[in-house]
Amino acid sequence: MAVYHCPDCGREIYFKGVCYYCRMKAAQERYRTMSGEEVARTVREIIDGIETIQEWDKAYKDFRGLLSCRDIDTEAIAEAAFAKKIYYPPTLYRDASASVRDAMIRLLEQPDCGDAGHLLMCLARIGDGTAVEAIKKFEADPLPWREKLYWSPSQYLMCGDLCLDGDGKTVRLAYEQCYALLPGAEQDADGAVTVASPRDDVCPQCGCKLVDILTLDGRDERLSFLGLEGRLRIPICPNCATLCEKSVVRYTPDGDSSAELIEAFVDENYIGEAQYAELTNTSLVLAGEASPPYFQFCPEDVFTIGGRPEWVQDPQYEDCPDCGRKMKLLAQMSWNTVMDYTEGSLFMQICTDCRVVVLVHQQT
Ligand SMILES: [Zn+2]
Ligand SMILES: [Zn+2]
Ligand SMILES: [Zn+2]
Repeated sequence: MAVYHCPDCGREIYFKGVCYYCRMKAAQERYRTMSGEEVARTVREIIDGIETIQEWDKAYKDFRGLLSCRDIDTEAIAEAAFAKKIYYPPTLYRDASASVRDAMIRLLEQPDCGDAGHLLMCLARIGDGTAVEAIKKFEADPLPWREKLYWSPSQYLMCGDLCLDGDGKTVRLAYEQCYALLPGAEQDADGAVTVASPRDDVCPQCGCKLVDILTLDGRDERLSFLGLEGRLRIPICPNCATLCEKSVVRYTPDGDSSAELIEAFVDENYIGEAQYAELTNTSLVLAGEASPPYFQFCPEDVFTIGGRPEWVQDPQYEDCPDCGRKMKLLAQMSWNTVMDYTEGSLFMQICTDCRVVVLVHQQT
C-alpha cells in the first residue's frame, strides 16, 4: 500500500489528498469562528431559504453547521418551516415555540392527517411534556392515519432520543453532555480515552485481530456523566463489526470485557495488515471542552462520547439483552475517523445497570 503525506499537516495517509483531520477542521472552523452577527445573518439566510432546506444544499449545510458547532436556537427557523409546511428534517423543530408545537398537535388531531409520520418525528424532537403527552394520547386512541405508519406513535419518541418506561414515564436515551474526540499527538493523550488499541486475541468468526475500539476512564471528570465505575474497554472485531447484526460486550467494574457477535454475515476477513495498522495508529484524544449536544451533525464526520446521535438510517435504540430496557447512547463513531474513506457509523449503547454495551453499525 502506497503511503502519502497530507499537504496540510504532513500526517502519513494512504491516498493522495487532504487527510480526514484537516478536512474536519476546515469544515468546522467556518462556523466556529463566525461572529455573533454572522451567526444571526446566517440564521436569517436559512429562514429566507427555508424552502430549499430539503435540497441538502446551502441552507441545509448552514443549518447543520450552526446547530452542531454553535448550538443555535432554532425557534425562528421552526416558525418559518412550519409556515411553509416543511416538516423535515425534524431537528429544525428542536426549539419550536409552544404555539408551533400546539399547531402540530392540532394537525395530528385531524383523522386524515397526511403528514403524521413527519409531524410525530418533529414532536418527538421538541420532546417536552406536552409533546410527549400528545404522542401518548395518539397511541392510546389511534386515529385513522395510524394505519399508514410503520411505527406506533410512541416508537416515534426515539426520533427525539426518548422512550417510555413500563409506567409510561419518559426516559432519555441520549446525554446532553457531549465530548468530541479530536486529532491529537501522542503527548496530548491523557488516558481518559483511547481509540482502537490493538489486542492479541483474534475473532473466532473471521480470524481478524481484535481491537479495543474505545477505552474510557470513567473516573475522568469529563466522563463522569456516564456513571461508569472505572475503566471500560470495548473490544470489537474491526472486520465483523460492520458485517453482523450487532456486537455485544459485557464488562466488569475492574476493566475486563468480553465480546460476542450476533448473527455474523461472513467468515472472510477483509481487513488487511495495512488497514489494521491505519486503524490502530488512530490518534484521537478527548477534547478538553464539551461540544454542543448535536455535534454529530457537523459538516464532517466525527467521533463523540455522549451527545445526540445522527442516525444514518432509522433510529435504532437497542433493548438491553439482559434487562430488556432501552439502552442509552454511549458513543457514535464515524468509521471515517479511524479508517479514512470508509462508510457509516458505529453506535455504541450502554446499560450501566447490567454492564453491557451493544454496538450496531449503520450505513447508507
Ligand atoms: Zn492533514
Ligand atoms: Zn471477525
Ligand atoms: Zn440492562
